[in-house]
Amino acid sequence: MTTQSRTAPAVPSAPQALDAIIIGAGFSGLYQLHKLRDELGLKVRVLEKGAGVGGTWFWNRYPGARCDSESYYYCYSFNKAIEQAWSWSERYPEHTEIRKYLNFVADRLALKRDIQLDTEVTSAAFDDGTNLWTVQTVAGETFQAQFLITAVGCLSTANVPKFKGLENFKGDWYHTGNWPPEGIDFAGKRVGQIGTGSTGIQVAPVLAKQSKHLTIFQRTANYSIPARNRPVTPDEVELTRKNYDDVWRRARSGTNGHPFSMSSQSAVSVSDEERRAIYEKAWERGGLRFRASFKDILENEKANETASDFIREKIATVVEDAKVGEMLTPRDHGFATKRPPIDSGYFETFNRDNVLLVDLKAEPIVEVTEKGIRTSNQEYELDIIVFATGFDAFTGSLLRLNITGSHGYALKEAWAAGPRTYLGLQTPKFPNLFTITGPGSPSVLCNMPIAIEQHVDWITGCIRDMLASGLTRIEAEPAAAEQWVEQVNDAANATLLPMASSSWYLGANVPGKPRVFMPYAGGFARYANICNDVTRSDYRGFARS
Ligand code: NAP
Repeated sequence: MTTQSRTAPAVPSAPQALDAIIIGAGFSGLYQLHKLRDELGLKVRVLEKGAGVGGTWFWNRYPGARCDSESYYYCYSFNKAIEQAWSWSERYPEHTEIRKYLNFVADRLALKRDIQLDTEVTSAAFDDGTNLWTVQTVAGETFQAQFLITAVGCLSTANVPKFKGLENFKGDWYHTGNWPPEGIDFAGKRVGQIGTGSTGIQVAPVLAKQSKHLTIFQRTANYSIPARNRPVTPDEVELTRKNYDDVWRRARSGTNGHPFSMSSQSAVSVSDEERRAIYEKAWERGGLRFRASFKDILENEKANETASDFIREKIATVVEDAKVGEMLTPRDHGFATKRPPIDSGYFETFNRDNVLLVDLKAEPIVEVTEKGIRTSNQEYELDIIVFATGFDAFTGSLLRLNITGSHGYALKEAWAAGPRTYLGLQTPKFPNLFTITGPGSPSVLCNMPIAIEQHVDWITGCIRDMLASGLTRIEAEPAAAEQWVEQVNDAANATLLPMASSSWYLGANVPGKPRVFMPYAGGFARYANICNDVTRSDYRGFARS
């Protein structure tokens, strides 16, 4: 753990009165603070568990941690001066540079004076009599406000599998999403890495270079596209600055908040030669844009198989040992039905002499021992274990806030069978509580800053309208939430996304978690239109008083 939350005083303090409380100081919390404080003139406090701003990027400091959206559009679009003043150094910025950017924004807008760091929220309770939220922290502080906005991110609660015997391990272990800021010295160490998702695929090549030996424990083989990361040239920076209006227009008009458009061609409508040439070009260009090569990669199984096969062939070409190459080849799900990673030399890593791949489907982990990890076949001796095992996505960080809504109704109870929201923005019986990029919104299927800005703008407009009309309470109607849950399911079922049965989109990575497809897969532009339409129709589906 990298921070020390303030501890409780002997005597609890009196509640501090605010207009709005925001939990989290990442991309969402910073922008929401700016909008409510500087545009609406509200008294706002951001409560942040970490010792600095950055959210996801405060905690994810593992070697190789980079963003998968290209830097020129993995940033805010709301402020021209900031947009024109900042320059990214690489195509995919490293975590340090993203933190620097978020600090730059926070300083530029003088946000830090209203952000309380090292402050972990322990509970949030709504009072039907006053329509106020009361928020308590580990330190025993109490805050009260009419509006509560969670800006806790979708991937903030680490998922550390409960392996038998972990407490007996004599070496050190770390989760990638909770990395010590001082870093870890891997020199001369035997390292075990569990997990080969986006994180595992980023961290493995660096661990292999820094350690004496790396054993990678893989449960599910994954597809990955080369990132082709490189420095950004001054000419590119200049050109982007000139074209930013167009960049943002394209990002907002598409499916995933990226400024590239999906091909209008079907993968099964072109000849084999043509298709291969298109995939080769996309492979050479690198990055998430690969999945935009054809319009139906995520809609049509045959089309998907062409992309999956192409990547399988690439794996076989890159990995020198055919047996290892086969172990690394995904066969149980189609490309991009789980979040597709991008990499810098992931498959090449397995050609190194100091790297060993263990297939957990063939030899599952039995226990962690004093010396390392024992599978059903043998014991692997390790000095350090790195858990790249992902997150209790979407709901984990919201449920641990211990939120109780109208008449003491607990969010844990409301979401016992999986999250049920209206537009991902509100949950019935939780008045005046807004969730930025919550379950039921496009969120993780998008370039996040675009999804975040759309939510913050909508929430700000909603609060502005309430204040102008003298309203004090807004609550999603149960029928609207039921209909929205159906729409979220329909949107997912129109794609191949639900096919990947072990996906964290479904909550399948956390034992015991209800299997519900959580993000809205109907596309960013369509979703934003629905939200705008709700506003125009006098907040249809919300009860306001
Ligand atoms: P993830 O995609 O959930 O991957 C977790 C990995 O750990 C999977 O390989 C999983 O195997 C494995 N695992 C989980 N529990 C296990 C167990 N009990 N035993 C063995 N293996 C186990 O998590 P992630 O890689 O941290 O990525 C999560 C998301 O974060 C990404 O999809 C992406 O949206 C985001 N992310 C973004 C970036 C970026 O933008 N640069 C970087 C990293 C992450 P199974 O597949 O079999 O479940």
